[in-house]
Amino acid sequence: MTTVLAVANQKGGVAKTTTVASLGAALAAMGKRVLVVDLDPQGCLTFSLGHNPDRLERSVNEVLAGDVEAAEVILSTVDDMDLLPATIDLAGAEALLLMRAGREFALKRALAPLLGHYDVVVIDCPPSLGVLTLNGLTAAQAVLVPLQCETLAHRGVGQLLRTVREVQAITNPDLVLLGALPTLYDARTTHSRDVLADVSDRYSMPVLAPPIPRTVKFAEASASGASVLAGRKNKGADAYRELADNLVRHWEGGAVATFAAE
Ligand code: ADP
Ligand code: MG
Repeated sequence: MTTVLAVANQKGGVAKTTTVASLGAALAAMGKRVLVVDLDPQGCLTFSLGHNPDRLERSVNEVLAGDVEAAEVILSTVDDMDLLPATIDLAGAEALLLMRAGREFALKRALAPLLGHYDVVVIDCPPSLGVLTLNGLTAAQAVLVPLQCETLAHRGVGQLLRTVREVQAITNPDLVLLGALPTLYDARTTHSRDVLADVSDRYSMPVLAPPIPRTVKFAEASASGASVLAGRKNKGADAYRELADNLVRHWEGGAVATFAAE
């Protein structure tokens, strides 16, 4: 059974792409067969995993359009996981998909023939709630929402949760809201902890453990073309390894590890 996980939040800069790359690499290091999917026309995931989006002839865009099979576009990465890359052409997919019947199902259909080849598929959604994110949520069994701990400005979360409920009602009744993942976390401040308590109260959404600490290693990693796990030992990589461990245990039937329970 393949687990398909969407990482979504319409706010930019909350560590969606970093989470997909690092969690994917951690799962691969545990021996899982992992595919990561770049659904953002900016191609940041593609770039951070060592492939220049400007030099790719085909990407997830042609796959969503139905012109090529996903298997023909998939690239390998130094982190031992496969990548379905994005290029800026994906910006045109929104308009193209909008004219099609079943437009929310394009990714789900494209991934179907691949599912037997992977244990986990992790989807990096773009910073919007448009048709690409709807495709990510429709193709997924679970959604994880990275939340920056620094600001109390989580006003977009209500809107995102409404979108998740709409997807559950219309295109994907089985979609599970896994929870919020605290990112850019600074354990030294009580502020970060207050923000998390507020999120779990206000949205009655589980807050996953562990919170991902703020460290400069992530910026260094994305410039190097490999995830933060490929570099020297650091607390950011350790946190994503622990998250991967917790999620695998959850997928094997255990309860999901939450921050409040710690
Ligand atoms: P998103 O995909 O949500 O827009 P990114 O994953 O691209 O967010 O992250 C935004 C920026 O924050 C990037 O420059 C990334 O390197 C940085 N970043 C992400 N996680 C951390 C972290 N835990 N500590 C420090 N910087 C981080
Ligand atoms: Mg991103």
